[in-house]
Amino acid sequence: MITSVGLIGDPVEHSISPVFQNAAFRHYGLPDQYTLWHTSAADLPARVASLRADGMRGANVTLPHKTAVVPLLDELDEVAEAVGAANTIVRMVDGKLRGLNTDVPGFMNALQAMGFDPNGATCVLLGAGGAARAVAYGLVKSGIRSLTIVNRTLENAEAVLADVLSVTDLDPHLLALTADAPEVADVVAGADLLVNSTSVGLDHQALPLAPELITSRMLVVDLIYRTTPLLQSATQHGARIQDGLEMLVQQGALAFEAWTGLSAPLPVMRAAAQQAIEERR
Ligand code: NAP
Repeated sequence: MITSVGLIGDPVEHSISPVFQNAAFRHYGLPDQYTLWHTSAADLPARVASLRADGMRGANVTLPHKTAVVPLLDELDEVAEAVGAANTIVRMVDGKLRGLNTDVPGFMNALQAMGFDPNGATCVLLGAGGAARAVAYGLVKSGIRSLTIVNRTLENAEAVLADVLSVTDLDPHLLALTADAPEVADVVAGADLLVNSTSVGLDHQALPLAPELITSRMLVVDLIYRTTPLLQSATQHGARIQDGLEMLVQQGALAFEAWTGLSAPLPVMRAAAQQAIEERR
């Protein structure tokens, strides 16, 4: 086995990316090994430079380095450039490093896997951190009717909206609200898509919004990798749900294709990810 790709972040120990990426490599009979590379901010430049060596395919990048990695790369794809963050690095034949953002198309592919058509959709996004930025960018580029970002800190929601507005020619209706704003109830009631990108729910208990606002006509997506209290409530209210595992696998599948030029074996990767999550319960 050769180590040719890995995950750069801090922490990385919790990640299930090695499980489903190595399943994809084994599917093709490739000897590559996907490794966890715990990397501090101080060590980031040396870690990225190590990807230039012969035999390396590249890396994934996770918190807290998705933005800091950008100036260390030679070029960016259009999405990474627009979002200002890269979660995938590809070593090209000449040793140059190209940064991609597969979180954005990974999220949109996960919506497509649910049969959700964003064109003309009314969307509510809870949260305004790094993951929200990818979701908001993907949505405003795909013809949605409106996007409301609901976040604890209003300035963060406004900043995400200002950034995505600057990278699209489309003109969706955009609104930023705090979670306790009186308008939230009406806005959520009219939503076709509700996405939770806050970390609220990781503790298995907290809800990022009042569950009675969920209606049966919505698709409710939680970016957390397993069934959260929000998703349990959404099911009780008759809504369709998706947890964050599909987005994780979809962004990984796009990274695998960029590293290898091969078609990602999505069912193999999905099954491996699902099993890894169940084993950790
Ligand atoms: P982040 O940049 O730290 O943003 C966290 C967001 O959660 C912010 O909007 C923050 O609000 C909000 N928040 C945190 N604690 C809160 C609380 N107690 N009450 C209300 N709001 C709170 O994190 P991130 O990278 O965006 O990740 C967010 C979640 O998405 C995590 O659960 C992560 O695991 C998941 N994720 C999933 C995928 C996937 O592929 N499925 C990819 C990336 C991330 P403020 O702005 O007010 O601080």
